[in-house]
Amino acid sequence: MVMLGEETRAGQLPLVGGILALDFTNTSSGRGSEAHLDHIRTTEHLILWAVHSGILAGQDAERIRMTLARDKQKQTELLVEALDVRELIYRIASRIASKSEPSKRDLARLRDEFRVLLEPASLDHMGDGRYDWSFPEKPVTSSIIGPIVLSAVEMLRQGQLDRLKQCPGRDGDCGWLFFDRTKNASRRWCEMSVCGNRAKVRRHRERQFWAEDVG
Ligand SMILES: [Zn+2]
Repeated sequence: MVMLGEETRAGQLPLVGGILALDFTNTSSGRGSEAHLDHIRTTEHLILWAVHSGILAGQDAERIRMTLARDKQKQTELLVEALDVRELIYRIASRIASKSEPSKRDLARLRDEFRVLLEPASLDHMGDGRYDWSFPEKPVTSSIIGPIVLSAVEMLRQGQLDRLKQCPGRDGDCGWLFFDRTKNASRRWCEMSVCGNRAKVRRHRERQFWAEDVG
């Protein structure tokens, strides 16, 4: 397999998680399987995704790129922390999706990240009758990872976690997480057009195989 270090779909990935924190975990798939993919392998991939998901506006991203261009160490730190937080949220959410409890250690880590990353944020009037967190451009870790951690905490706080689900894909090659907002909570796949159809095709083939075998 050719591994293209700089190429990524980070800026085009479908945002089907329903919640920012889950969309972020979906920048990787097939964890622990041979089909494992990671769409965020560089700091630039992370910035592309942050713009794609609406965390950063285009001009903010440009300024962050310029700041980081001068500081290789900060680039590495940002990437390492972002991926660390991503896997932390993944562990917590996939445990819940499989009807088990997240570890106390992971919940404590999430609280610590929340405390540190929210520290520079302010509560600003949004002009539509409500107030919301605003993240300053610096530190960059807060401006990019802060909204994701906030989203994860909000998800845990708001409940209805029986609707937090994980796409089985085929033999664990997907594992995307999503919040099922369908009326009767019947959603099973990340995307019907991807994993759902693949499963349908496979079932069809299996039926054909058995029919031929018997016939
Ligand atoms: Zn899937």
